[in-house]
Amino acid sequence: MKLTLYTMLSYIIFLYIFVKVIKTLPMKREKRSLPPSSGLFNAKPIFNDYFDDEDSYLDDEEEDLGDASYAEAVYHEPKKKSQSQRWKINFNKTKDDVFIIEGDIRLTVNQKLHTAPIFDTPNKRSRRAARSKEPEYLWRYNTIYYKIDSNFGRETKREIKLGIREWKRTMKNCLKFVRLDRDPKLERRVSQERFGGGPVHHILLTKTDTGCWSNVGRVDTNFQNQPLVLGRQVISIGDGCGERGTVIHEIGHAIGFWHEQSRRDRDKYVKIVKNNILYGQKEQFKRMAEKQVGSMGYAYDFWSVMHYGPTFFSKNGKPTIRILKDFRYLKPNMGQRIGLSYLDIAQVRAMYKCNILPSKESSSKCINKKTKGRDYRGTLDYTENGVMCQPWNKQYPHKHDYKLYNQKDGLGKHNFCRNPGGDRERPWCFTTLGPGFNKWEYCDIKKECKS
Ligand SMILES: [Zn+2]
Repeated sequence: MKLTLYTMLSYIIFLYIFVKVIKTLPMKREKRSLPPSSGLFNAKPIFNDYFDDEDSYLDDEEEDLGDASYAEAVYHEPKKKSQSQRWKINFNKTKDDVFIIEGDIRLTVNQKLHTAPIFDTPNKRSRRAARSKEPEYLWRYNTIYYKIDSNFGRETKREIKLGIREWKRTMKNCLKFVRLDRDPKLERRVSQERFGGGPVHHILLTKTDTGCWSNVGRVDTNFQNQPLVLGRQVISIGDGCGERGTVIHEIGHAIGFWHEQSRRDRDKYVKIVKNNILYGQKEQFKRMAEKQVGSMGYAYDFWSVMHYGPTFFSKNGKPTIRILKDFRYLKPNMGQRIGLSYLDIAQVRAMYKCNILPSKESSSKCINKKTKGRDYRGTLDYTENGVMCQPWNKQYPHKHDYKLYNQKDGLGKHNFCRNPGGDRERPWCFTTLGPGFNKWEYCDIKKECKS
């Protein structure tokens, strides 16, 4: 009797444990098999919590791409000698240079005839809001779908992934980069939900024998004015220019950037040395018409990944672009192809309106009236006018002198809103706008905490 009782008890305990173990198994399995991008396309409005998921922005990378934190490097890393060499390829191999301007920009016939303005000024915001249509050169839903063609070698493919990774990292709460070529199901879903079952408008990064080039902004037709085939907007990554920095640069064009040195106001900052330019290449250094390129008041950016280097298109190795005296003290790494500069990031965010709508940050945070928000340690990094803040340790476009407060007031390398010394009404920051614009603005935190 005793024996059977023991056997029965141990049997029951065994059963209990067995059931418990079995229950946990499928859960684990389920967790593992969830697609990395699930929940992405719930047809939510563009900004409303759309980017809230701590999106694993490396989810489509199977290999370890190493540590890549470029933003800081942009301002320190010395120039590489090979830059001008690499760039020569862009135009030498170009067949139909009718449509290629500035080395690597490919225009559609439409763009060539009447180029769409790429930026608006902040003052025109109300007018912009009145427009019913989204500017057609911007990527809808702030989402850039892309495919990487299979015609790349291993090394180039890696560089392309690193370039895209830099965009994902810096635009994390603003633009979404979604790879399609590895997930036909996802592509079908996007097609249904956003393109009425038609082809998904995407960037195809592909290898051609015409060097590296891209269109400016989102385009509906190819450079011969034909509708895109299967929604493909091509970025060409040819032989000899398949490096991370160039990939970042070409994607920059597709996002909506022209070259920085083609800005209307560039002659205030740099001098183009015509005598040193390669024969027939003076076109590369043209200024754009005001209609074509606006900079929304953002400071001229010597560090931009969209800026040419000092000897690009040089016939004799001597500079084709010289920095004017007043700015030489900055010692900019001009023509860098390491990563996006903070002004690049600021401009993309402005272009795609990522700073305008109230963020979760500003709606949830409140400031202490007594301290005037001196104790605010949140990560909000733009002003109430939707302008991104300049990092506190930068000296351009505005000069900071807040080293004194570094520790006590939470300042440092970042560009978050602060109120050092409690000097102003509430957290503020220096802006990324250029000279002649407000040097500082209040941040988008207005709520006072109820005590
Ligand atoms: Zn370019």
